[in-house]
This record gives sequence, structure tokens and C-alpha cells, in this order.
Amino acid sequence: MERFDVLVVGAGPAGSATAIHLARAGVRVLLAEKARFPRDKPCGGGLTGRALRVLPCPVDPVVEHVVDRFELRLRYGARFERGGGEPMIVMTQRRRLDAFLAEQAAAAGADLRDDARVEDLVAHDDGVEATVGGHRVRADVVVGADGANGVVARAVGLGEDLVRGVALEGNAGWDILEPERYRGRAVVELGVVPGGYGWVFPKGDHANLGVGGWGREGPRRCANLDGLAEAHAVSGGALTDGKGHRLPMRPVGAPPSVGRVLLVGDAAGLVDPLSGDGMYEAFVSAELAASAILGGRLDDYPLRLAERLDHHAAASWAAKKAMDRSASACFWAARCPGVFGVVAGLLAGEVRHPNEARGLARPPLKLLARLAR
Ligand SMILES: Cc1cc2nc3c(=O)[nH]c(=O)nc-3n(C[C@H](O)[C@H](O)[C@H](O)COP(=O)(O)OP(=O)(O)OC[C@H]3O[C@@H](n4cnc5c(N)ncnc54)[C@H](O)[C@@H]3O)c2cc1C
Repeated sequence: MERFDVLVVGAGPAGSATAIHLARAGVRVLLAEKARFPRDKPCGGGLTGRALRVLPCPVDPVVEHVVDRFELRLRYGARFERGGGEPMIVMTQRRRLDAFLAEQAAAAGADLRDDARVEDLVAHDDGVEATVGGHRVRADVVVGADGANGVVARAVGLGEDLVRGVALEGNAGWDILEPERYRGRAVVELGVVPGGYGWVFPKGDHANLGVGGWGREGPRRCANLDGLAEAHAVSGGALTDGKGHRLPMRPVGAPPSVGRVLLVGDAAGLVDPLSGDGMYEAFVSAELAASAILGGRLDDYPLRLAERLDHHAAASWAAKKAMDRSASACFWAARCPGVFGVVAGLLAGEVRHPNEARGLARPPLKLLARLAR
């Protein structure tokens, strides 16, 4: 039987980032991915400023578009725009980003195996065993980076308390959409999907259109996406590459590890409840899991993860509640002077929590906090 120090299950952003950190430190890592690269993953492909700060390596070769402004719209009616200065989000495609990060993990020394599904995982007190691409392997520690529908959490009884949202997306080329309308701009549509929003994100040769919301929106996801497409003068049938996926969201305090099994990224349910973003959380959890393993302190991982993410996640859950109660109130609050500066600070990782807001932004944000009670 082959032996490794660490088996990382899944080579999405969380798994590849974990493998990069560990391999750079000289750890023997097996990074196993069930799909064959390059493979796609339903995702808006937006990397926020705070995600860029915690990337394990620069990703410039796979950046297709830089967004420096947001357009917010309410129920496909009233709208306003903010930004237009510093870059706020860089846009990539997951087909490209994930292959790039997996290559970086291999270059750092990880044993990358794609087309290698992990099955029959058994955790013991002194290590784990699993079948990887048909071969039995043993490792001291396993990192479950296998996403929203992963096997690792289930194998060890974690993840039962996650809230699962749902999102659906498709692409429209610049021959269908007017490129100037979307250049440098992320369009966010509020009040159109309960528990979420619609988006149009510009990429290199197309824009990505998507809708995400509560899991119960599942049966209406196609109608929601058609509504978004129509509002942008695209007939629903003209969208290509339509794909849906779950958005796993962890109640604050839910355990991300047990014994020698650590979960990172979507496998741990780290998607931000308000924005639906998960790549920042994937990179943060990867860094913390790797550092717990390197320090020989696996038990530290839940605490370190809570320190880094729970404060912000609690604010996101509250904002999501406010949005569900009144998308209009949230839209008008976001329009008030100073508020967008706080949102931009949160995206950039310069503001940790909306209650750090000062000046004109405070009254509207306090109003939203009251709405969420
Ligand atoms: C429609 C949509 C839009 C989104 N937009 C954004 C956005 O713009 N910005 C953002 O930051 N986040 C966004 N997210 C969230 C983001 O996509 C996830 O948070 C992110 O993919 C999490 O990365 P991960 O590595 O944890 O999991 P994943 O990316 O899901 O990777 C898991 C990997 O594990 C592999 N795997 C699964 N099971 C096994 C197995 N048994 N053996 C081996 N391999 C296995 C899978 O094939 C996959 O490659 C969006 C999500 C959706 C659904």
C-alpha cells in the first residue's frame, strides 16, 4: 500500500491551495481529483480583493477581466452604480483557474492525480485509508476538499447541519450582449431570487449570468435564470454552458474537523451566506489546515478557522436575513452615502465587520441590523 503524510481529496481551489502550502514545506502530499483536468465547475469566477490577498500564488495568467465598479438594481427596475476607481474583483473561469492551481501544486512537489476518485475512506486513530483511483493508500491525515457533494464529510459524520443553497448559471457571448454595457462592471440584481441575487459578470469573450438563493428555489432555478437573461435582453435559450450547483453554508460554530480529518472550502460549508462567494474562504481554510498539520496541532484548526471567519460569517447571516425581509430596504441602504465604501472594504478585506463603519454609513447599517433581528 502507498503511504503519504497527507491525502488531499479534491483539487478545486481549496484542495490545490492546501497541497501547495504543504508541498512547499516538504510534506509528502497526494492530491487526488476525480475529474480529468481541465474541468469546469459552476462558479461566477469572481476573485474578490480579499481572496487575492490569501491566494497561495499569483494567478495573473488566468485573469480575463478586472471589475472596478458595481451596478446594483432592484427587481430589474431602479439602479445605481458605485466604484470606478480601484480594481475590486478579478474575473477568471474555473476551468482555467483550477487547472492552473493544480499545476502549481504539482510544481511545488505534490503528487497530483486526476481522474482518481477517492472512495471507501476509513479513519483510524493513527491515520486514514482510502481507495484512490482504484488503489488503496494510507496517510497520516486527510484533508477533505471535495466540495459541496463530497464524500469525506459524510464518511466521518460531519456536515449534517449545513444549509444548502442552490445556484444556476450560463454564459452569453459578446455577440449577444453589448460589451461596453458590462466592461469593468459587475451587475448585481437584488429582490429577484429569495435568499440570494442574480449577477452578470464580464469575462474575456463572454459574460457569466447566474442566480443563487435558498435551496427551496431549486424547482424555480431555470425560471429565475430565464428572468435574469430576459432582463439583459438575452433569450433564455441563447445561454450556453448552463450548470447548477449547491452552495453549502455552515451555521456559525459547526465543526470543520474530527480526529485526523480536516475539511476545507465547500466541504466544510464555508460559502459566504450573503454573497455566495466561497473562494476566499477556500484559500483561508487551506492555509489554516496546512498550518495546523505542519505544526502538529490538528485540534487547533476549528479555533483558528472560527477566529478568521466567524465574525464576518455572522454579519453575512444577519445581512441575508435583512435582505429576505426587505430587499428594498437593503437596496436603499446600500445607496446611502458611505455604505458602498463599507461594502468595498469588506470585499477588499480591509473591513472585517459592518459595525466597524463610521460616519454617514452608520445609521443605514444600524437600520439593517435592526431589520435582521
Ligand atoms: C453558480 C455559482 C457561482 C459562484 N460564484 C462564485 C464567485 O464568483 N466567487 C467565489 O469566490 N465563489 C463563487 N462560488 C462558490 C465557489 O464556487 C466555491 O466556494 C468554490 O468552488 C469552493 O472551492 P472548493 O475547492 O472547496 O470546492 P470545489 O471547487 O467544488 O472543488 C471540489 C473538487 O473535489 C472533487 N471531488 C469531489 N469528490 C471527489 C472524490 N470523491 N474524489 C476526488 N475528487 C473529488 C471535485 O471534482 C472538485 O474538483 C459560486 C458557486 C456557484 C455554485
